[in-house]
Amino acid sequence: MAAIAVKGCVIVGEIPSQLGLLALYKKKCEKCSWEEAAASAGLIDPQTKEYLIGFSCPKCKNLQDVIIKEA
Ligand SMILES: [Zn+2]
Repeated sequence: MAAIAVKGCVIVGEIPSQLGLLALYKKKCEKCSWEEAAASAGLIDPQTKEYLIGFSCPKCKNLQDVIIKEA
């Protein structure tokens, strides 16, 4: 099991849990390269093998997705 950053983030770690794989990531803006200082945690859906959220960059206000897949 490994968490793979598909879009809008950098993976900094992963924790296997009973609910599924917990990915630790930092949001990253694809437009201005802003990177979140502290890591966030996201539970990858065991059915779809995907984690998806949206965010707006605090620096340039770009709206984008964070997509993490499990492989
Ligand atoms: Zn930005």
